[in-house]
Amino acid sequence: MTHALWLRGDLRLADHAGFAKLAKLVESSVAFFNLDPGLRRSLTPHKREYLMAALADLDVQLEGRLTLFALDPATQLPALLASRGITTVYTHTSVGPGIRRRLNATSKALQDFGIVVEPLDTPYLLPPGTLSTKDSTPNSNNLGYRVYTPFFRAWRPLALATRPIETPSSLRLQCLARNFEPKAEVGRGGESIAHADLARFVNDRRSRYPTERDLPSRQSTSGLSAHLHFGTLHPRTIIASIGPDDEKFLSELAWRDFYADVLYRNPDAVDNELDIRFRSIQWRQAGDNPDLLGAWQLGRTGYPIVDAGMRELRATHLMHNRVRMITASFLVKDLHFDWRIGARYFEEQLLDGDLASNRMNWQWVAGTGTDAAPYFRVFNPTLQSKKFDPDGSYIRRWIPELASLSSDKIHAPSDHLDPTTLGYVTPIVNHRVERLDALARYANAKDNLVNSRKHD
Ligand SMILES: Cc1cc2nc3c(=O)[nH]c(=O)nc-3n(C[C@H](O)[C@H](O)[C@H](O)COP(=O)(O)OP(=O)(O)OC[C@H]3O[C@@H](n4cnc5c(N)ncnc54)[C@H](O)[C@@H]3O)c2cc1C
Repeated sequence: MTHALWLRGDLRLADHAGFAKLAKLVESSVAFFNLDPGLRRSLTPHKREYLMAALADLDVQLEGRLTLFALDPATQLPALLASRGITTVYTHTSVGPGIRRRLNATSKALQDFGIVVEPLDTPYLLPPGTLSTKDSTPNSNNLGYRVYTPFFRAWRPLALATRPIETPSSLRLQCLARNFEPKAEVGRGGESIAHADLARFVNDRRSRYPTERDLPSRQSTSGLSAHLHFGTLHPRTIIASIGPDDEKFLSELAWRDFYADVLYRNPDAVDNELDIRFRSIQWRQAGDNPDLLGAWQLGRTGYPIVDAGMRELRATHLMHNRVRMITASFLVKDLHFDWRIGARYFEEQLLDGDLASNRMNWQWVAGTGTDAAPYFRVFNPTLQSKKFDPDGSYIRRWIPELASLSSDKIHAPSDHLDPTTLGYVTPIVNHRVERLDALARYANAKDNLVNSRKHD
């Protein structure tokens, strides 16, 4: 036995390059997951729950032969694999700079024990770094697309040409250890559920998606983001279930690939504004006004659509995309908090919390990223609410205090009555005033850059 598959964010059997590779071997092999101490510490309870359910599901499919380690990746893991004669480890590649650093460190430790790590496949339709703009050489490191639309045009034919990798009919796997036992306590995660959710989308929601995807009260989006994050579903499988006519949905999958590509080429973008004009914006930090920040986190801002979204997030660990945009914009442009604070909070709370999609979307909202919303476009939460939750049913679901209000009052209750009489809150800020404050902060940052260049 010389080959092993190291499973990380690819917890599935179907459409998996690594399992397909193992199936071709004549000798037996190992498929393992390592719940190392660092990973164990960093997992939020909801992500841990999904992970355990996904491992349990995969283990059933592998007839109990999934190897489950809880080993130090720098010392114990290489020593154990080497002692069992493993010489090659397959694993997929990742885009987050932290994960890449850890993967490189482990690969080096494995090499020191004579084990070669072979990267196989990525969680994306096109491997990040594949597409380059016309005026650059292929795969050069920093000449990727900065604008989404031309990226989409180049990406579309290649993505549609991808095909799922055949699922092996049999595997000769050996289980080396069970350092922990996965339990599907709540049954929210895993490949079987991912496929059921995909079927639900294709059969029930797909036809409504183009017209209803922006309405948070309708269940019209796919709900596949967590499955994509944990790799219980590969986007190739999704593409094979939809058609080239599902343009809107296809374009959303392209955003995922686009942001992965941007982060892969610009690892600093996790913490730094991609648009350098805005690196000196005077943001509020968490300690500057903990009450305002707490009101946003708890859904007590007095802006019902914002509060509904933040309460949905805390209750379900997911939030509708339109409402993610509204709540993020409110934090950055109405409360003037640093977008990194919001991004970190989302990562703590979200089940689909994903570095590339989350950080790049936050930068989009803040107007500091690639192809971002122009900084001077400030979402008006009340108008957004009227447009995307016209009858107020999304707000009523998450803010029971406002359930008795009619749809003409529910978007801005304080314009009609004293909301505290309902147990709700008055708005913590005035949007019109804060919009001007936000514009001034952005303008100052731009002026600072011009002035500093004059003095260079
Ligand atoms: C501030 C903010 C933070 C976000 N953080 C995350 C995150 O941590 N993880 C995450 O997966 N998505 C994130 N998104 C993108 C988007 O909100 C979610 O992917 C979407 O809501 C998931 O629901 P769904 O699977 O039903 O989406 P659908 O509408 O059914 O879309 C299908 C798939 O396309 C991809 N997708 C859709 N919209 C986007 C987008 N704007 N950017 C990147 N990929 C997209 C997702 O993989 C999604 O599952 C964020 C958006 C914003 C505005």
